[in-house]
Amino acid sequence: MITTSSNTRSALSDHTVASLKTHIAHWGMNPHHAARLLKEYYRTGGRVDFNELKIGNALETKLSAEIELRQATMLERKVSSDGTVKFLLGLKRGGAVEAVLMDSATPGRAAGCVSSQIGCAMGCDFCASTKRGLERNLEAGEIVEQFLQLRAEALSSGRQLRTLVFMGMGEPMQNYDNVVTAVERIAGEDLGEFGWRQICISTVGIVPGIDRLADEDRNVVLALSLHAPDDETRSRIVPMNKRYPVSEIMAATRRYADKTGRIPNIEYCLLNGINDSDEQARMLGELMRGFRAHVNLIPYNWIGTGLSGTEYSQPPPERLTAFMTILRDAGVHAHFRKTRGEDVNAACGQLREITVAATV
Ligand code: SAH
Repeated sequence: MITTSSNTRSALSDHTVASLKTHIAHWGMNPHHAARLLKEYYRTGGRVDFNELKIGNALETKLSAEIELRQATMLERKVSSDGTVKFLLGLKRGGAVEAVLMDSATPGRAAGCVSSQIGCAMGCDFCASTKRGLERNLEAGEIVEQFLQLRAEALSSGRQLRTLVFMGMGEPMQNYDNVVTAVERIAGEDLGEFGWRQICISTVGIVPGIDRLADEDRNVVLALSLHAPDDETRSRIVPMNKRYPVSEIMAATRRYADKTGRIPNIEYCLLNGINDSDEQARMLGELMRGFRAHVNLIPYNWIGTGLSGTEYSQPPPERLTAFMTILRDAGVHAHFRKTRGEDVNAACGQLREITVAATV
């Protein structure tokens, strides 16, 4: 049976059909309602109405008394001029987390971005999430709730949530079990029905995590945050490179692609004068040779000074174009990733925990 702590009730998002059935049977009621209830909970983005489901007064009363409908409350909701919506969700277990909903290229479709941790321990120098270090891992149910809020937000504006990316705060591979448990619920046929291929897990390049994900045949899309083609540059901006250097993370990403058949994304945040030279573009082209993967170039989003005290900036437009041209001439499948939600600090790398005394 799922309990969170001695004085905290579990929430529906903490449950699987099996665990909810156990609860209901333990109350001496009919457990067959569990599957329908949870499915509706996921379909509606957590807006399920027990009354409409006709699960009976007794079960409705017991559920309301014993299990929370939600463990996250909306503390803040900001809408950007481009329609991007950023949430700040206060968590019952403590702390707050940010999630973002963006329009996709296809009208009527939206993409969601979720966090896997509060804060981050990776120390990437150009990313805001790491500025105050790691506070804690998110539980699977807390990740599920971000997805539910995003689905509800999309539904309320007549859009369909079609993609979910783990590109918010945190390093998913450092919270592997909870991330995979959440993904199983979100994608599972008996719950979220989202589909593995609609989910993208982005990593700084934790090799054992990439291999584990490949071995477990999860079939999600993998994104590797590369950001530099050479170890000298990458170690300057991504400290984890000292542990898992470029050759090893690229090899692991290739293994992932071979094993799952999914085309990975290579993320490359362009920083003026750091990783945006012609030579680095050529090196990146070389690194990508014979590798069927997509390179996403992300012009740097400003975060103030990084941990090292360096203040980065975006390369000028002609540099961005030159970099892209070299890559494409080398036969690399590369795109610029459009920056969304900048005016509400919801763009890549700008998500940052805001300390709140979250009493939900
Ligand atoms: N830890 C994971 C996921 C979170 S970061 C990872 O490293 O992939 C999500 C993406 O945003 C990564 O590709 C990251 O490098 C990029 N990013 C971080 N800070 C950024 C910034 N200031 N501007 C643009 N992209 C940034």
